[in-house]
Amino acid sequence: MNPLDWIDQELAELESQGLRRRMRSIVGPQRALLRVDGIEAINFSSNSYLGLSDHPELAEAARAVLTEEGAGAGASRLIAGNQLAHRQLETAIARFKGTAAALFFNSGYQANVGTLQALLGPEDAVFSDTLNHASIIDGCRLARAQVHVYRHADAAHLADLLSQAPPARRRLIVTESLFSMDGDRAPLAELARLASHHNAMFMVDEAHATGVLGPDGRGLAADAGIVPDIQMGTLGKAMGASGAYIAGSSSLIEYLFNRARSFVFTTAPPAAMAATAHRALDLATGPLGRERRAQLMLHVKHFHEGLRNLGVPTPTHPSHIIPLLVGETRRAMLLSERLLRAGIFAHGIRPPTVPDGTSRIRFSLMATHTTSQLERALSALADLKVLFRPMPAVPNMTP
Ligand SMILES: *Cc1c(COP(=O)(O)O)cnc(C)c1O
Repeated sequence: MNPLDWIDQELAELESQGLRRRMRSIVGPQRALLRVDGIEAINFSSNSYLGLSDHPELAEAARAVLTEEGAGAGASRLIAGNQLAHRQLETAIARFKGTAAALFFNSGYQANVGTLQALLGPEDAVFSDTLNHASIIDGCRLARAQVHVYRHADAAHLADLLSQAPPARRRLIVTESLFSMDGDRAPLAELARLASHHNAMFMVDEAHATGVLGPDGRGLAADAGIVPDIQMGTLGKAMGASGAYIAGSSSLIEYLFNRARSFVFTTAPPAAMAATAHRALDLATGPLGRERRAQLMLHVKHFHEGLRNLGVPTPTHPSHIIPLLVGETRRAMLLSERLLRAGIFAHGIRPPTVPDGTSRIRFSLMATHTTSQLERALSALADLKVLFRPMPAVPNMTP
């Protein structure tokens, strides 16, 4: 008997439930048009919402810094030193977010896990939206904090939980701003009010809003005119680069680079990646970013109109993330497969990424799509209409 035999049994079990994942091969950068497993397809699976990931200026910024600062960072920045590209990026992020300071992490996953683990311990309580991303859930677990999960985007339920929860040393409310799998929004202003009323820290994950929503793409907190204590954003999605940041006060940032284990105990991202992200930030906040956000919003409007014509109810505040609810996992995967054969690459999303019974196709729009590419997706959906239910993915999908 091989001690790893159980793995093949587990994989077979995943297969039988329609949950075995595989990676599709693509060649070349993330663009609106791709070759996916050899099939030419329009890409609705990328989070490169502004279409920046193949912008020549990003590659140019990386090349220049590769020459000046080399490839690998050598160690954690606490050990091997703080390179110029990292320092400059953090200054630019703090300026972008209007905060005193910022800290660059290798990924959004690491930023969330490390920050929650650093800020909370077993004596503390965290209040978390039921649809928060896995990295937030894992951070809460790693902190061994008491976790109170409130109903999705439901401030009234959160208020109840805050009033009823046993006393804790520290409290923290955490939410995504634009939800990654539903494209709907957290009621940030109400959550901020509750946080201040209950003397809780307030952390907002702007992974999918950064670069796209709010003034100059600064996110939905800026849009709502609030300043959460702890602001997370990613550089690998709309920014088209890689990595993530926490923005906030100088003492928060200093505390995190002392205590966030996912920052302290890992090699820093390459300086070239910091430079790439920095250039992406410059592009996203300049004329190109404004142009692309405007184009993306036109696409959002157009695609939702098309869905309404197919009988799919659309939310009051539509976004560039568009879930098409299927329900049953196999059927979602079948729809995804059929769409690919029709030249539409839109991934099926299934548990554990989304709750059981809510498997779906998630369309991510990019500014660099053309209107006729959106039309092709809508007409493919019209042909496959028997495979999905015309209903919103989240029951309370209003803002
Ligand atoms: C993608 C995502 C992350 C993780 O960011 P990465 O940089 O991809 O690791 C965190 N939070 C949310 C809501 C996300 O969608």
